[in-house]
Amino acid sequence: MYQVRRVNIGKTAQLDELARECGRLYSQTLASFWRTVRHKGIWLKPKHLMRWHTSEKLHAHTADACVQAFFASLKSWRERRKLGDPDAHPPRKRTWYFRIEYKSTAMRHKDSVLTLSNGKGNAPLVLEWPWETPKTVVIHWTGTQYEAIATYKIEAQGQPQGNKVAGIDLGEIHMAVSHDGTETHILNGRLLRSKRQYQNKLKAELSTMIDMKKKGSRRRKKLICSKIRSKQKQLKKLQHQVNDIEHKQSSRLISTLHANGVQTVVIGDVRDIRQDLDVGSKNNQKVHQWSHGSIRHKLTYKAEWLGMEVALQDEHYTSRTCPMCQHVRKSKVQGRVFRCPTCHWTYHRDGVGAINIRQKYLGSLPVIGDMAPPIGMRFRPHTSVARWEKTYQ
Ligand SMILES: [Zn+2]
Repeated sequence: MYQVRRVNIGKTAQLDELARECGRLYSQTLASFWRTVRHKGIWLKPKHLMRWHTSEKLHAHTADACVQAFFASLKSWRERRKLGDPDAHPPRKRTWYFRIEYKSTAMRHKDSVLTLSNGKGNAPLVLEWPWETPKTVVIHWTGTQYEAIATYKIEAQGQPQGNKVAGIDLGEIHMAVSHDGTETHILNGRLLRSKRQYQNKLKAELSTMIDMKKKGSRRRKKLICSKIRSKQKQLKKLQHQVNDIEHKQSSRLISTLHANGVQTVVIGDVRDIRQDLDVGSKNNQKVHQWSHGSIRHKLTYKAEWLGMEVALQDEHYTSRTCPMCQHVRKSKVQGRVFRCPTCHWTYHRDGVGAINIRQKYLGSLPVIGDMAPPIGMRFRPHTSVARWEKTYQ
């Protein structure tokens, strides 16, 4: 597990120059890589390019990090393409500035001063650092100044309170539904959904404006530019709100499960949903914006932080299978109640997925008597969040 500390460090000529040098290296890597693909049909490896492109102005490992960053985005493109993401693009854009990464080999930490080496003969970067020595430091431009992101490796801070297994079903109408064998909890997702809808609307408006900017007179362009900036500002604010909801809701669920004696959290895996069903562009957009990635990520690290284990479980048919008799319905459940046509077991529809994910993971047939109805968890904007939730990401 990693802890992250973010520190604003302003803007200096030295930082500009370092970021510029990293940008040069990154762009060179990118250009050489694609040129070799084009002319020779060879896909070079990181080690080749790290030997090819070095820098006199950077620590050797900082230079390597620029090359590795290119390969990291290449890898993420491949993964997204494998999942059938139509928006996946390989890294092709050169950049003037790029983030500066320091590995622990380039660090010296003494008397609250962190000295980051830029290689022999070059002035090191010196930061005031009244905290522990980080594992890595990445410096990037935030739009107004530079920010140092320091990573620390940390140990989990909690112990599981029992040995229960809980299944978690991520969804759109509900952010997440959990079932731990006795209790079912539902995280309401309505607010999050409305924020996302608004986000889509703004994004669409923004792209129209960007198109408009291409044509038109100078004066008009100026006007559009200012509108674009205000839209971007609104979008940023919205993103903060979305994050806030996800954080608070995921924390509530995980701490409830922890208090109820859950040791293992099993999250339904929907990652190959795109391959299975093409449900039309409008619905596809919805599917992608479930933002399972970020909710799952938050649930995962928060659970691990409390010493719980996290597993993924393929969730095909889990919303259509009867947990009692394993009958699989042909159609989607209509209405709010799941009613099994074979054994007539009924339950609130939204809990069924989580129950099945848990069963699938445990690999055993259920013993369910009368199950308590699900407990809803509405988003409460003013709940304070424990400190670790703010610091750890
Ligand atoms: Zn049944």
